[in-house]
Amino acid sequence: MIIKSYAKSIHIEAMEQLLKRLSFEHPLYPKIVKDIGAIRAGDFGEEIVFRELEKMQLPYKYYVFHKVFLFAENGFEMDILIITPYGAIILEVKNIIGELVFTENPSQLLQQKETELNKYPCPAGQLNEYKYQLSQFLLEYNISIPIYGAVVFASRNSIVKVSTDKATILNRNEVRPYLRRLQNLNPTLTIEDIEKLKDILLIKNTSNTYSPLINQFSIKAEDLKKGVECLNCGLIGMQKRKRTWYCAACGKSDHTAHMKAISTYFLLCNDFITNKECREFLLLNNRHEAKRILSNTSLTRVGNNKLTRYTK
Ligand SMILES: [Zn+2]
Repeated sequence: MIIKSYAKSIHIEAMEQLLKRLSFEHPLYPKIVKDIGAIRAGDFGEEIVFRELEKMQLPYKYYVFHKVFLFAENGFEMDILIITPYGAIILEVKNIIGELVFTENPSQLLQQKETELNKYPCPAGQLNEYKYQLSQFLLEYNISIPIYGAVVFASRNSIVKVSTDKATILNRNEVRPYLRRLQNLNPTLTIEDIEKLKDILLIKNTSNTYSPLINQFSIKAEDLKKGVECLNCGLIGMQKRKRTWYCAACGKSDHTAHMKAISTYFLLCNDFITNKECREFLLLNNRHEAKRILSNTSLTRVGNNKLTRYTK
C-alpha cells in the first residue's frame, strides 16, 4: 500500500522560480537551466518507478514511501522506501541514459552519451550510505531489521555496460519481481512492528531542510527581478491597486497574487521576511500595505516594532 505518495520535489519549484527572476545575462543562468533539466529528469525517473509500484500487488503487507528525509549522523533522503515483513528496502532511482560504466577506485558512474562523457557519484555507494544511515536511525528506536536496497535505472535507454557488485542494480521492470522474491526470506517483522515503524517514519520524515536558493548559488538578492508575478501571463511586476493586483500586460486582476510572491521569497531569499523586505520584493511603496499583507497571511509574527519579522 502507498503510504506517502509521489510528489514533485520542492527543489524544482524553487529552481523554476529562481530562473524566472534571473536575467538571461546573469552568469549563472545557463547553469540553472542545466540543473533544472537534471532535476526534472530525476523527478521523472522517480515518478515512472513509483507508478510501477502503485500497480503492484505484493503477497505480503507492505508500505511504500516516496521521498523520506531523516536525520541520523546527518540528514539523508531516500527516493523510495518500502517497509515489508522481511525488512526495509531502499530504492535509489537514477534516470541517466546512454552507456553507463561503474568504476572502482574511485567509485563513480561514467555516462557516455553520444560524444559526451559525464561523471556522477556512484549510486551504489550512495545507496550503501543510505542503508547505513537508516540502520543508525532505527537503532535510536531499538529497532534492528534487515535493510536491503537496489539502484534502479528508470529509463529503457540506460545501458549498463559495466555493473558493480557493491549493490543490486535493476532496470525498472525488474523491481516488482525483486520485491516478490523477498518472500523466500524469513519474515522478521510482525504486523505490529510494521505499523510502529510506519508511524515513526511518518512522524520523523521532514521536509524542513530547505535552504533558500540565493545562498546556495551565491546570487545577490539585488540580482533577482522584483515584483508580484501574474499567474495568468507570467509577467513579474503587477501593479498594486485598491484591494487587488493588476497586470498591465494581460489586463487580469488578482487579489491574492502576492501570496505566490511571498512563498517565492521564502524559497529564494530567506527563512523570514521583514516589512522592508516585503516592500522591496513586492514593489510596494507603503509600509502599512505591506503590514496588512503580511498580517493576513498564515505567517508567524516574531519580535516587535522595528525587529518584527514573519516566518513560515
Ligand atoms: Zn498578466
